[in-house]
Amino acid sequence: MMESQTKHKVERMLKSARLRRTTPRSDILTALLEAHQPLTREQIAERIGAGAPNKVTIYRALETFVAADIVHKAFVQDRTWFFELSHHCTTDQCHPHFSCTSCGRTDCLPQLRIPMTADSNGYIIQHQRVQLEGLCPKCSKSA
Ligand SMILES: [Zn+2]
Ligand SMILES: [Zn+2]
Repeated sequence: MMESQTKHKVERMLKSARLRRTTPRSDILTALLEAHQPLTREQIAERIGAGAPNKVTIYRALETFVAADIVHKAFVQDRTWFFELSHHCTTDQCHPHFSCTSCGRTDCLPQLRIPMTADSNGYIIQHQRVQLEGLCPKCSKSA
């Protein structure tokens, strides 16, 4: 049941982006969809497991998805980009990310809505991407 639902979602994503369905593309989108959290290229390969496409293929597919706006580069950590599906983002705003200054984990906060910043002094705000820092629930408990 779950599996075919994921497959359907992946097919719809590729179709909406007018991208041809290939096995690597489907596998990568499935990995991102099932993870419910941003993944690095390496983590995507790990989740696909045996038969995962090679590094270059994953990289190219991700670049294609980013260009088509179905995947976003969520944040960079230790010089590595984390990718995620853009289905929780709107055209003018990506959902905020929270990084814990104590344990270093980063979480997606798609339920958090931050008011759009107003244009000022000749700057026209077209897109807002907010990065929050502090203590995660686990660390704030032990603090
Ligand atoms: Zn923490
Ligand atoms: Zn996110």
